[in-house]
Amino acid sequence: MNWQTYFIEFSYLLASILFILGLKGLSHPETAKRGMHMAEFGMMMAIIGTLMHFEIVSYTWIIVGLLLGSTLGAAMGVWVPMTAMPQRTALSHAFGAFAAALVGIAEYYSYTHGFKPLAELGQVKMGAMGFEIMLGSLTTTGSLIAFGKLQGIVPGKPLVYRGQNIFNMTLLAVTIGLFIYLIFVPTAVIPFYVMLGLAFVFGVLLVLPIGSADMPVVMSLLNSYAGLASAATGFVLGNNVLIIAGTLDGFSGFILSILMCRAMNRSITNVLFGAFGSAATATAGEGEQGTMREVSMDDVAVQLAYASKVVFVPGYGLATAQAQHAVRELANVLEERGVIVKYGIHPVAGRMPGHMNVLLAEANVPYSQLYELEQINPELSSTDVSVVIGANDVVNPDARDNPSSPIAGMPIIEVDRSKSVIVLKRGQGKGFSGLENPLFFKPVTGMLYGDAKDTLTKLVGAVQHA
Ligand code: NAP
Repeated sequence: MNWQTYFIEFSYLLASILFILGLKGLSHPETAKRGMHMAEFGMMMAIIGTLMHFEIVSYTWIIVGLLLGSTLGAAMGVWVPMTAMPQRTALSHAFGAFAAALVGIAEYYSYTHGFKPLAELGQVKMGAMGFEIMLGSLTTTGSLIAFGKLQGIVPGKPLVYRGQNIFNMTLLAVTIGLFIYLIFVPTAVIPFYVMLGLAFVFGVLLVLPIGSADMPVVMSLLNSYAGLASAATGFVLGNNVLIIAGTLDGFSGFILSILMCRAMNRSITNVLFGAFGSAATATAGEGEQGTMREVSMDDVAVQLAYASKVVFVPGYGLATAQAQHAVRELANVLEERGVIVKYGIHPVAGRMPGHMNVLLAEANVPYSQLYELEQINPELSSTDVSVVIGANDVVNPDARDNPSSPIAGMPIIEVDRSKSVIVLKRGQGKGFSGLENPLFFKPVTGMLYGDAKDTLTKLVGAVQHA
């Protein structure tokens, strides 16, 4: 081995260690930033190692690619707002998966067009390459549709038609059938391109029937496919860092999907084939509920100002209103008056994993005040006022009390156990599940209508004068 090979192996080893430490760091808000920097440094080492590769004959196109990719990446990092993070992530997955698919196609082309010896294209290599191309292609189009739905370019509602699941499963079976055929007959060029085309089409058809609000789970699943496609690319190219990083990506994405489904008490198959949020499920669970009790700004201000303990429960409405700074200001004013302030964070509040954590961190809310669902629930019976800020499903008591509710069994933040509940929302709008929320009709609950940011800002002044 010459120094170049040693350097490449060393940089790949270092990159792999940094990826693992980075992932570990991301598991807690306090270490998340450090984890992110470690993973970034790891990626830089992997790129530097790859640039030293002896197979490179010219750097021209590599430099063009690096400049183009860095410019796009930097622009996206600077200009894409925090609220558009889900669709930005979908776009990144599409790029990553397309890159994996392109590498596979280029390799296949090299073998079948005499650039590499055809005899070397054995069953194992074709298996890894086919897997990479199939997953890479369906992830590319699937992620683009997810991006379109989240950005509002493609209709967000589940697009459902009769026999859809059977049609999709048949398409997948044919694609996998071609893939298996290619393992035994790698030189069959036409089946190869048909498999490629079908995989692209399958990606579109897989995501179209899923509602936009389920996109985070879908994206996390597609992320895991992109990771596994990259791992397969690593096998095809004999590149260890790709195998390790792809496997880490693949399995962490899969585990995240499972965790998100568990927090919603739904199965992956229900997310993929259930068309949740469509008209059929949206009306279920509605019934005679009584009336909602509207409260005034001044009443709420007095309640908050003279409380001993207040718990804020943020949800999707906090994100749309961008009310994170306003809630922090209100918390400051309350703390100055000696009120204990805590935040109850539901794992699927908002529309992407960690949505509330990211927003509250942006507003410099101390981590020590953030309590996960299991931690905050035992505290609620001793809480004077729970303030629900643009949350709905994650505080819906039907999930706990009504076994026939579509969200039955989903763990909730049990704000109805506190002495008083104030709900900040704009009107009678429903949450992501489309279900009525009995919490809003309970005697303990007062509704304070208006945009969350506007209401919280006004409350700051009202509490100061209370
Ligand atoms: P939610 O159930 O979607 O409810 C959000 C509420 O916010 C609405 O009822 C809406 O009522 C209110 N709202 C909207 N804009 C507002 C504004 N500007 N000011 C004040 N209120 C506003 O939200 P959630 O309780 O956070 O629950 C999240 C849901 O998303 C769960 O069902 C979860 O399963 C699902 N989900 C989450 C993820 C994830 O990763 N986090 C992924 C997939 C699905 P008005 O219209 O009346 O204002």
